[in-house]
Amino acid sequence: MRKKIAAANWKMNLSREEGKELIEQLLVRNPKIGEGHQVILAVPFPYLELASSLVASHPGYAIAAQNCYHLPAGAYTGEVSASMLASIGIKYCVVGHSERREYQHETPEQLGEKLKLCFSHSITPIFCCGESLSVRENGDPGSYVKEQLSASLSKLTPEQVAKLVIAYEPIWAIGTGKTATAAQAQEMHFAIRNYLLDCYGNTIAAAISILYGGSVKSSNAAEIFGNPDVDGGLVGGASLNADEFSAIIKALP
Ligand code: PEP
Repeated sequence: MRKKIAAANWKMNLSREEGKELIEQLLVRNPKIGEGHQVILAVPFPYLELASSLVASHPGYAIAAQNCYHLPAGAYTGEVSASMLASIGIKYCVVGHSERREYQHETPEQLGEKLKLCFSHSITPIFCCGESLSVRENGDPGSYVKEQLSASLSKLTPEQVAKLVIAYEPIWAIGTGKTATAAQAQEMHFAIRNYLLDCYGNTIAAAISILYGGSVKSSNAAEIFGNPDVDGGLVGGASLNADEFSAIIKALP
């Protein structure tokens, strides 16, 4: 059975002390994570080791990096490799967030390389996809997202694809307060799972957790997570507040 996941994306927010306090509060409010549930905190690079040590004795919690570089090593000042993340015990990494696709001009090919590097270091990628407002209004969001998937997943083995976590994040809903309706989310998640089914077969399609991201908060989480193809959420803004994110964790089905 695939995991139900509440993943926090802190982005470039919080001081070290604020981050530590937030994790401590989450652990107090949610000391036991339910069977089949996983809480993942994608924190800034400088806090990875601290965050890992805080959750180390709490089953059901894991720490993620928000990115890694698309090449294994070398003269790339300021970058962080998948092998470096693995060397400090990181088990998850966000790949292809729309903010990085836009501001860092990350290409589908680079994202494919990041996915391969993550897998070669036993890191589970959380691969983000999702359409812009103009594609939503004037195009075909289903085809657009399938194209994003095929462009970056094509060099993975089926065994690797089976281990992916996918986050569907419509760009028009990220940080905007606009959330996809539960029906819109289900429609896209169903389309993604069908694409996986066509390409990799039922066992793999059924094994992959597909998270929804885009202004998830305590007031809408249960409705969105209640859809059959939605396996939890990737949460930005609301993950910075212990009460809000705790309620989102509790909304996992
Ligand atoms: C995100 O950054 O992945 C995200 C979904 O942000 P927010 O929840 O703030 O829309």
